[in-house]
Amino acid sequence: MLFFDIPATKAGSTQTILMYGHRDKQPEFNGWRSDLGPWTPKYENGKLYGRGGADDGYAVYASVAAVQALKAQGKPHPRIVGLIETCEESGSYDLLPYVDALRDRLGDVSLVICLDSGAGNYDQLWLTTSLRGMASGTLKVQILTEGVHSGDASGLVPSSFRIMRQVLDRLEDSKTGRLLPASFHCEIPSDRLEQAKATAAIPGDEVYKRFPWAHYDCGGSTAFALPTTTDPVEALVNRTGRRRCP
Ligand SMILES: [Zn+2]
Repeated sequence: MLFFDIPATKAGSTQTILMYGHRDKQPEFNGWRSDLGPWTPKYENGKLYGRGGADDGYAVYASVAAVQALKAQGKPHPRIVGLIETCEESGSYDLLPYVDALRDRLGDVSLVICLDSGAGNYDQLWLTTSLRGMASGTLKVQILTEGVHSGDASGLVPSSFRIMRQVLDRLEDSKTGRLLPASFHCEIPSDRLEQAKATAAIPGDEVYKRFPWAHYDCGGSTAFALPTTTDPVEALVNRTGRRRCP
């Protein structure tokens, strides 16, 4: 846990602003562009490429840069503290004990700024108002008690994969990705929809075009993957407010 404490410059201010972020990162994985890599940070067109630069290596720098921007403009600010944890990608199981241990040093927190979300572009400041939650589980299908030779069993012993597909089809329309039980859905509040419309107008088509869609050349023509929708508002709502299986 990295903790920082910036004294107030605003007279009479008693409350604290808490900046939260994390420094642990996902494994580096593969699939990096050939001239980029997780361990060879590269600065290109104003962007830094390297492992965890976005999630969530930027948090501590963004919070310090924000405070420096206030200072550069001579704007007074309340006391600001930062909690930059190292366990977020593993479930933040050690965050609350740290919050307890630091409780006295946190002070009277009146605003928490969570520096761990997305930005639609780099031209303006973005604030996240809605995120999907997640329910996860382990699905097990058992049809035999031990492994047998496929040539002996297939055709007679039902395929566990086929059974699993049927079970998943109760939950999700496999053609569209829509979750079937009504209890997974709620009406999206109208003000949120209005916000989505205004927000989607900024990136426009970029809301789906920014993903690295697969494409293959097949004898003169190109076959390419498509998103679930090309309407920017639908696209934005699909990836934030509407319940889906990933
Ligand atoms: Zn993160």
